Amino acid sequence: MEVILSGCLGFCYGVKRAIKIAEEHADGKSCTLGPIIHNPQMVERLKAEGIGMVEDLTAMEEGTIIIRSHGVGPQVYEDAKFRGLNIVDATCPHVKKAQLSAKELSQDGRQVVIVGEKNHPEVKSIFEWSNKTAIILETEADAENFAPCPKLGIVSQTTMSDENFVKIVSHLLGKSHDIRVLRTICTATDQRQKAALELASMVDVMLVIGGRNSANTTRLAQLCEKKCTTYHIETAHELSPEWLKNSTKVGITAGASTPDWIIGEVYKQCQMM
Ligand code: SF4
Repeated sequence: MEVILSGCLGFCYGVKRAIKIAEEHADGKSCTLGPIIHNPQMVERLKAEGIGMVEDLTAMEEGTIIIRSHGVGPQVYEDAKFRGLNIVDATCPHVKKAQLSAKELSQDGRQVVIVGEKNHPEVKSIFEWSNKTAIILETEADAENFAPCPKLGIVSQTTMSDENFVKIVSHLLGKSHDIRVLRTICTATDQRQKAALELASMVDVMLVIGGRNSANTTRLAQLCEKKCTTYHIETAHELSPEWLKNSTKVGITAGASTPDWIIGEVYKQCQMM
């Protein structure tokens, strides 16, 4: 059986950067605000290195608060300052761009629309930067029901697929005479999705590795499912020989928040099957 790794998989630039920043502050007094990335195994590893995690600023009396790659709203920076905490900002620069785009469009008097998942932390942070006035559209139906307005400004969740973004925006074009579209999509997602789709068309089974709470990993699995039998796993422990017994070619991809060591373990185990 041949095991093939996708040409583009695993940690993206923003995640690598956030983890590096967190590790530089592993002094036993630093905590990330929420999990640094959507990968439980990586969060455990950081904990062992001395980087804690709090869900809320009220849980910290002192020390350093590390803002994760998904970013937060402006009020969180104010609250952290007020509490006397040292702030280390690991917000991905692409997310920062989406946040500042929402702020700019809102200050320009536009009704801001964020094309993205309503409950995703990054989308929530972009919403905060729009002065909490943005409307979040997740589906084409949401866009169809959107009420016309004089000035419209559109941004996207960074991990949105190009295809979905274009579809949703096409429903908004007739809703205003003055529209600015800022396509704040990050290429890391696109590259991983294209490479995964290409590989999924060549193999019998795809293994998609990453946190079940990772939106971009789940999306990769959904895309691969359209091409071949696909399994979404978090670690090598979940692998079942049954899945691969009739396969001659197995493909592996991983979300942008999946560490290399987990990909390596899955790869090795597949080769032994
Ligand atoms: S997927 Fe893109 S926007 Fe998100 S953290 Fe990675 S590089 Fe940044």
